[in-house]
Amino acid sequence: LSPSLSLPSYLFSLPIPSISSPSFIDSVSGFSLSFSDLRSLAFSASLSLHSLGISKGDVVLLVSPNSIYFPVIVLAIMSLGAVFSTANFLLTRQELESQIQDSNVSLILTTSDLSHKLDNLISKPLILIQDFISNLKPTLNNITILANTSIKTTDTAALMYSSGTTGKSKAVICSHGNLIAMSCILRDVWGGFGRNETYLCTIPMFHMFGFSVFVCGALAMMTPVVVMRRYVIEEMLMMMERHRVTKLLAVPPMVIQMVRVARKGRRLELSGLKEVVCSGAPLPREYMEMFVECYPGVTLSQCYGLTETSGPITLCDGVKGRYHVSIGRLIPTMEAKIRDIHTNKALPFNKYGELLVRGPPLMQGYLNNEEATSMAIDEEGWLHTGDLCYIDRRGLIYVVDRIKELIKYKAYQVAPAELEEILQTHPEVHDVAVIPYPDDEAGEIPMACVVRKPGSSFKEDELISFTEKKVAPYKKIRKVIFVDVIPRSPSGKILRRLIKAKVVQQQGTEISAR
Ligand code: ATP
Repeated sequence: LSPSLSLPSYLFSLPIPSISSPSFIDSVSGFSLSFSDLRSLAFSASLSLHSLGISKGDVVLLVSPNSIYFPVIVLAIMSLGAVFSTANFLLTRQELESQIQDSNVSLILTTSDLSHKLDNLISKPLILIQDFISNLKPTLNNITILANTSIKTTDTAALMYSSGTTGKSKAVICSHGNLIAMSCILRDVWGGFGRNETYLCTIPMFHMFGFSVFVCGALAMMTPVVVMRRYVIEEMLMMMERHRVTKLLAVPPMVIQMVRVARKGRRLELSGLKEVVCSGAPLPREYMEMFVECYPGVTLSQCYGLTETSGPITLCDGVKGRYHVSIGRLIPTMEAKIRDIHTNKALPFNKYGELLVRGPPLMQGYLNNEEATSMAIDEEGWLHTGDLCYIDRRGLIYVVDRIKELIKYKAYQVAPAELEEILQTHPEVHDVAVIPYPDDEAGEIPMACVVRKPGSSFKEDELISFTEKKVAPYKKIRKVIFVDVIPRSPSGKILRRLIKAKVVQQQGTEISAR
């Protein structure tokens, strides 16, 4: 990489397939931006931001549902050497305020329906995206600004917040080099205009999975992307039919809902669909099996990544019509090893321990948090993913669970994901999460929080004996409570800390907050 390459200058240097080829298409109106429209809008938007006083190093926050203008704004911010940041638009005003202070935001762009949550949080006025975009004047290039802005590959391009599944979310610093590395990899592995692919983007662009594939990757892959504002299952299926989508990037709750819809007998015309790529959290195997039965010919593959890796670092070379239990192989340029969580030694194939990864897309560190950075990345540059995994002899990687979420029953470690997968196969279980419950003798015992299917009334004992037959004695479920809903993050992760807090509230029980 040239040391002075920025993400926008890399993406804008790639040859465009044809002047009118659509890059981003609005799912509802069908209105599309071609690759060249996108470039000229981004140039014009960077001039406009410049005139608002934004310059190198300033942090600009975009709070918005998915939109075809999301990538335009990102590239405009980055072209100035300013730093792009984003937030989950479902956060409360207080949560947004804390993120804004944490990253020292200079300017906020948002939609009119979200503006009440962001008003008066910084000294500058809020910019409404609708007004900002409609005032842009077409321009061929922004050479004047770029000539005065020297951006280095090592400069910060984005501050992306982790999901906050295991604690407070952390601001991950991504350099231009990190994001270019991710874009190049996606271009090499998934890219190729002329493959007649159409992607559907319904996962949020504010999360690293959506951001990396659709904002950094789409322009490098040169693949048209149908953009949905946000995920609603019925609407998603309708849009997949209408736009003949070939590839869907999904998180587990979407795949589960697709199975449920198909099993209710709904007729779907998804003849264009070739592949669903699932990521973000473990997907129970039972649903993988049902998925390929319900959608014959569609490949169900997985990819895996962290906010800290700037996007997916494993991809499956999916076999048509099959499902893939593994998260795939490492992408080019990355290295991986498995570490014994007790002895710290590297482990051979098929033994599980913590997955460590290293390579060009790895973050620069956490903002204002050297301690957390040095705990995450060791002196040799390995990122400790916190995931319990193993690698087989073919180089395929499998996720067992998150180390932080293992339940410590006596001297044993129990993976909640394994128990959840089994419980999901019970015909009357609608949804389930397994969490640790304090116990004087064992330390912790596995407790299942279960949402029953409507009309079912099975009891705790029945569920306990259901798992008992299927696992080693130390893993068995020892307590069950029934709940109305299992809270999940936008990337489909079970929010165990919220469930624990609820249980504490309901039962007055002290449950460890880890
Ligand atoms: P925080 O660090 O704030 O608790 P987080 O780690 O949940 O948040 P993300 O970066 O969104 O934030 O999530 C990364 C994690 O997602 C991985 O460490 C892994 O546990 C999980 N994950 C990603 N892809 C997969 C997958 N295909 N299968 C299983 N788990 C996955």
